[in-house]
Amino acid sequence: MTRTTMQPLILIVEDEADLVTLLSYNLEKEGFRTAAAYDGDEALLIANEQRPDLLLLDWMLPHRSGLDVCRQLRRGSKTRDIPIIMLTARGEEGDRVRGLDSGADDYLVKPFSNSELVARIRAVLRRAAPRMAEEILGYGDVEMDLAAHRVRRGGRDVHLGPTEFRLLRHFMQHPGRVFSREQLLDVVWGHDVYVEPRTVDVHIRRLRKALNEGGDAETPDLIRTVRSAGYALDANSQ
Ligand code: CA
Repeated sequence: MTRTTMQPLILIVEDEADLVTLLSYNLEKEGFRTAAAYDGDEALLIANEQRPDLLLLDWMLPHRSGLDVCRQLRRGSKTRDIPIIMLTARGEEGDRVRGLDSGADDYLVKPFSNSELVARIRAVLRRAAPRMAEEILGYGDVEMDLAAHRVRRGGRDVHLGPTEFRLLRHFMQHPGRVFSREQLLDVVWGHDVYVEPRTVDVHIRRLRKALNEGGDAETPDLIRTVRSAGYALDANSQ
């Protein structure tokens, strides 16, 4: 992924357009990239599509509160790890606790200075980074380093394209479970992309080939095909 080398993307969720403009301007001056959402539904959509590195989330939003957005993000498989800083005009202790309870990483009371905001953002990103860096998945003789984007099997490097990488990550996170083509399409390609179910088979074939490359006759095929049901990661598939 080239994303790690890019400037962090901050999604600003705030219904006051002037404040969005000001925050974007200030954050971009500090070297961040920004995106904006003006209500909770838009925030959920953009968070799922663009996977920002951090959300600045206003508490008071029309239709759907910031608190609700926060809870929704924590439930989504694509969004649950995105760090969130809640913004609010209310500074009462109860709200603060509710904000942090709902899954926010930090909390900033309006009005705040730009330097304070930037310091908080950097601190939250620093805390989030090691969590991602340490993320190594293991199954059988396969090791997957999510941060370094590296896969090894039995000590050999396995070279995967981005789609195969996402497929394998999903399997490694749920070993033994059978996923239908439709489920895999949702997880790997996303809801709003139209891809034919047969495309999944193509990528599964590539993933299998890559995992088995360089192995000998003893190397088991880790991907189990379940007739008319889908696929699973299963070391005892033979
Ligand atoms: Ca607001």
